[in-house]
Parts: sequence; C-alpha cells; structure tokens
Amino acid sequence: MKQIVVYQEKCTACRECEVSCSFSHEGAFVPALSRIKVADFYEEQFYQPMVCVHCADAPCAAVCPTVAIQRQADGQIKVIDDRCIGCKMCLLACPFGVMGFSPDKGVAHNCDFCDGDPQCVQFCTPGALEFKDVVSAAAPAKQKAAAALGLPQT
Ligand code: SF4
Ligand code: SF4
Repeated sequence: MKQIVVYQEKCTACRECEVSCSFSHEGAFVPALSRIKVADFYEEQFYQPMVCVHCADAPCAAVCPTVAIQRQADGQIKVIDDRCIGCKMCLLACPFGVMGFSPDKGVAHNCDFCDGDPQCVQFCTPGALEFKDVVSAAAPAKQKAAAALGLPQT
C-alpha cells in the first residue's frame, strides 16, 4: 500500500507539514490539530516527523469499544466519525502517539492521506516526506514461509 515515507535527516522542523495538515482538515493553522507531528530535540538538532503507519495489528482499532476504527480496502486504518464516542482509548493505545483528537468534532483522527494527495508531502519544502508504495522488508520471507505451509500468499 502507499504510505507516507519519512526521510528524517531532511527534516528541519519548519512545521509546514503540521500547518498544512491542520488547515486542510480543520480549516485553521493550528499545529496541535495536525495529524502529523514533528518530535523535536533542538539541542541535538534532531527532528523526527511522526505519522500514522496504518499498523498491521492496529492497537488503536483493537481497543476501540465502538469498532469506530476500521481497516479500509486499500489497507488504510480509518476512524469512522459517526461511530466514535470520543473516549480517547485509541490515543492511549497508539505506540507512536499519532492518533489525535478534534475537540470541536469530539472525535479521534489519524492520517487519512488527504484522499490520495497528502498536503504535508506537498508542502514539505525540505523534501523530508514522500507518498509512495511501500513493500515490507519482511515480505519475501513471509511469502516463502506461507508457501512452505501451503497458505495463501499476500
Ligand atoms: S493510529 Fe497508531 S496504532 Fe493506529 S494504525 Fe496508526 S500508528 Fe498504528
Ligand atoms: S476516541 Fe473514538 S475512535 Fe478512539 S477509541 Fe474512543 S470511540 Fe474509538
């Protein structure tokens, strides 16, 4: 599936990704509402953009009491707004801290790839983000093991 790939070494913590994301989704330039977050370690000059990786096991979905977080046909993990009761269990469960919350809407939110045209990628001037097909490094080994067991290969 397509993912947002991060080139950490190119990130300058300019936060254009956060601003463009919040404006695109919430209509306001509020980085706190962004679905991508830049972890900053200014003294070390180390900046790490963090965004949903649409985990294979999706702990956020596993803890949601209303089954509001569901995997889509394209592999994306998506919050179904109408089902979300705003309990924030998913925020606690995400190991990367990238499930967010919209106070106005009262629902959780993660990266939705902006319907196929991620604005963070568009506006990342240093080129630290790319939206592209990603194949797991473990895929060949998994396929080999599945073949040996006579299981369907994905
Ligand atoms: S929000 Fe967090 S736990 Fe859920 S799929 Fe994304 S990275 Fe994984
Ligand atoms: S905040 Fe919404 S999506 Fe998250 S666990 Fe609660 S009901 Fe589910």
